[in-house]
Amino acid sequence: MQPLPDKSVVRAGSLLARLLRLTGVLWALPLSLLGLLLVLPVLVAGGSLQRLPGKLFGVPALVVRGRAGDFLLAHHPFGAMHAMAIGHIIIANRAARSHRLLAHELEHVAQAARWGVVFPLAYLGASAWALLRGGEVYWDNGFEVAARKAERRLRD
Ligand SMILES: [Zn+2]
Repeated sequence: MQPLPDKSVVRAGSLLARLLRLTGVLWALPLSLLGLLLVLPVLVAGGSLQRLPGKLFGVPALVVRGRAGDFLLAHHPFGAMHAMAIGHIIIANRAARSHRLLAHELEHVAQAARWGVVFPLAYLGASAWALLRGGEVYWDNGFEVAARKAERRLRD
């Protein structure tokens, strides 16, 4: 039988986890503010907002869905997509409600929390690196590879 952990150790671990999540939120805040600005029309047009607590999902995030969001995603300059994450904000198509899609986008939220404001540059750099190695800018981007790996950890 294993001894129970000291309650102060458990509390410290929990406090550390909360501090790390808070640091990630602050570090990615400029991106999240940009994301909020982008989803504002979606919310004004009657969209919905769902809060994903970091304690349950590893990273806190807000998921926004709505007709205007569907339009935005369908007409994205890089091509139509089901969802996208900007900082801690996820814009998701109303029809795309799979756990795998959410896991994919939450991995991008975690990446933004780690890289902060330089995440978009790091993402572009990873695409350039993939291209230089003879790969494809999206499928071989290391951030996308990690997000697809996060998807595979779940089953719908
Ligand atoms: Zn992705």
